[in-house]
Amino acid sequence: MKLALSDDIQYVKGVGPEVAKLFKNLGIKVVEDLLTLSPRRYAEKVFIKDIQNVQNIQNIEDIQDMQNVKPENLSDLQSGKEVRVSGRIIETGIKHTGSGKLFVVKISDGTGVISCVFFHYSPKMRERFKWGLTVSAEGTVSNWGWDLQLINPDISLAVSDERDKYLPVYPLTGWLTHSRIRKIIRAILDTKIEIPETLPAYLIEERHLLSRETAIRNLHFPPNIEYVKSVRERLGFEELFLLEIMVALRKREIQNNGIKFQKGSVLARKFFNLLTSEKPGFNLTKAQTRVCWEIFTDMESDKKMNRLLQGDVGSGKTIVAILAMLKAIESGYQAILMAPTEILAEQHYFCLNQYLSKIGVESSLLMGKTPKKARDKILEDIKSGKSQIIIGTHALIEGKVEFKNPGLIVIDEQHKFGVAQRSKLMEKGTLPDTLVLTATPIPRSLSLIFYGNLDISIIDELPPGVKPITTKWRYENEIEEVWKFVISELLIGHQAYIVYPIIEESEKLDLKAAQEAYETLKETAFKEFKVGLLHGRMKSDEKARVMEDFRKGEIQVLVATTIIEVGIDVPNASCMVIEHSERFGLAQLHQLRGRLNRGSKKSYCILVSPENISELSRERLSTIEQESDGFKLSEKDLALRGPGDFLGTMQHGFPEFKFANLTNVKFISEVKDIAFGIVEKDPLLKEPQNEPIAKALKTTYADKAKFLTAG
Ligand code: ADP
Ligand code: MG
Repeated sequence: MKLALSDDIQYVKGVGPEVAKLFKNLGIKVVEDLLTLSPRRYAEKVFIKDIQNVQNIQNIEDIQDMQNVKPENLSDLQSGKEVRVSGRIIETGIKHTGSGKLFVVKISDGTGVISCVFFHYSPKMRERFKWGLTVSAEGTVSNWGWDLQLINPDISLAVSDERDKYLPVYPLTGWLTHSRIRKIIRAILDTKIEIPETLPAYLIEERHLLSRETAIRNLHFPPNIEYVKSVRERLGFEELFLLEIMVALRKREIQNNGIKFQKGSVLARKFFNLLTSEKPGFNLTKAQTRVCWEIFTDMESDKKMNRLLQGDVGSGKTIVAILAMLKAIESGYQAILMAPTEILAEQHYFCLNQYLSKIGVESSLLMGKTPKKARDKILEDIKSGKSQIIIGTHALIEGKVEFKNPGLIVIDEQHKFGVAQRSKLMEKGTLPDTLVLTATPIPRSLSLIFYGNLDISIIDELPPGVKPITTKWRYENEIEEVWKFVISELLIGHQAYIVYPIIEESEKLDLKAAQEAYETLKETAFKEFKVGLLHGRMKSDEKARVMEDFRKGEIQVLVATTIIEVGIDVPNASCMVIEHSERFGLAQLHQLRGRLNRGSKKSYCILVSPENISELSRERLSTIEQESDGFKLSEKDLALRGPGDFLGTMQHGFPEFKFANLTNVKFISEVKDIAFGIVEKDPLLKEPQNEPIAKALKTTYADKAKFLTAG
């Protein structure tokens, strides 16, 4: 039977349901997924002189290979090297240790000895690896006194496939081994499976790329390490290029038939006047004015707005969003504001409503917890169009909320990309103009890739009079000093946050830490003050009450988990202590400290960590101590963590990149320009030279197109 790239992996020879299940953990469902599984690195095979080995030579190719590979002696092996060694078993044995039995297999090639140590002894192993047999073992060499060891190596009796000098090392899961994966991949490649080209011939030529077939074959068994570079270059180009083609197609599709809102806005003007009368001297910053203009221009044109408004915490995105919403309702449409949490939705509502009611705008708040009776009334108002501005959480897009005529939706994402939520909205069929607010500055390279179909507005300036937050990093043994400082702030009438991390895996323990700290602190350091506790496990009305007390100043010190991260706004809070700050990411620390500076007070953020932390954590903490610009931090974050990790913790739903280098802005914009150029000239991809692209979008890349519906 001829194998095809799209075949289910389960039916490949040597796989079966059990292995298929493991493969699924690695994201592998069809043959193509396995063939594009990117090796993490390559182990160098060391050919060890061994008389016995000669018996394993099966064909002429093996002999030629042996001549190419410099033989190395077992006795020359150095600790730390990743190797595959072959030799004869000269001794086996069981060692008893405090924690159990070890199984040891000693191998020799006549020049030296290496011990393979297995932490799990089984009688089966002992049966299998007997004195005198020849085996291959693969692992990292370590020293134990004078002895060389391989700990839990990948060991096999048959000297499996000895053709290759560089052996791919894959991400593993369950009991899968490298040699097993290699064997399967090797078998698939040996079937002469067809690997069609996905790029137009002219591009391959222009950019000196390898063909897809050559790249994929050599990805797993490269002739040398240098060659892997061209392989990855080709596959990385393909990934980015085809994604950008999809982005370009998508952008064309959604640009048409938007709502054409009226020019100018009397309501926005009224609102602005009201603000200035309450806050004399208030004026929009230059950046706010600029982005308002960008947004208004979009809204007034007949193309559909699909815009991302980026701005650091505290840069004043909310006002911009309100002005846009007022403009929308002036043309007779409804405007929707969706917040990520109930606390935030409430905060937006109460803050806005005090103005909106004064300029005669009807608004309503809808959340999951809204009681049935009130809810029915609100739903009716939304349906009839009586409610002009509707504020809520994702409850707005779930259930059966019927809008009369939604014209603009503003999604306040804070720092989470709500890709899933956005796609849900689109599924509902109502796709009004969209404005997404995000406080996570995204590195330029990534926004180019992921937001290629969104227009981007950036507020790169803080409102006047905002003093920069002073950030300091202290060790735990200096905590008494830290408390003294906090007390000095409390004594002049300010308030403080004390934040504890909650990491999902150890949620219970973490929660306990926050609770215990609360119990202790209120009896010791902050005995004279009013201390409150806020965490995610509390009921929502309880949370709201604590927040309200803190806002009113009835609680002076708020001990909290990261729940406060999202958008809480208390101007009188002037300092924040973040315990175990080494456990937070850069973006999260920046978000947290952004809770400060909500008033005119000079603010302080103190990061506390143990003295003994990883180099990476150290780098993070000193970065955040020195850098207050969110954009610069995000670039730094991307560099520190690498794109996989960076994207992984920030969002879900974006396609994963296996090969493309996501930090190279120049390369990315080049690829983007090429892709957009092609779509511009040949929007239906009908021209013969573009056929490979059209095909690839229907096959390999069909899955990846899903995320785009979210933009
Ligand atoms: P974010 O961008 O984090 O959502 P907000 O919109 O909540 O920021 O604004 C932060 C604070 O700055 C609010 O208290 C807001 O009233 C205030 N603010 C916004 N724009 C200005 C401005 N132009 N001048 C003075 N204060 C402003
Ligand atoms: Mg905000």
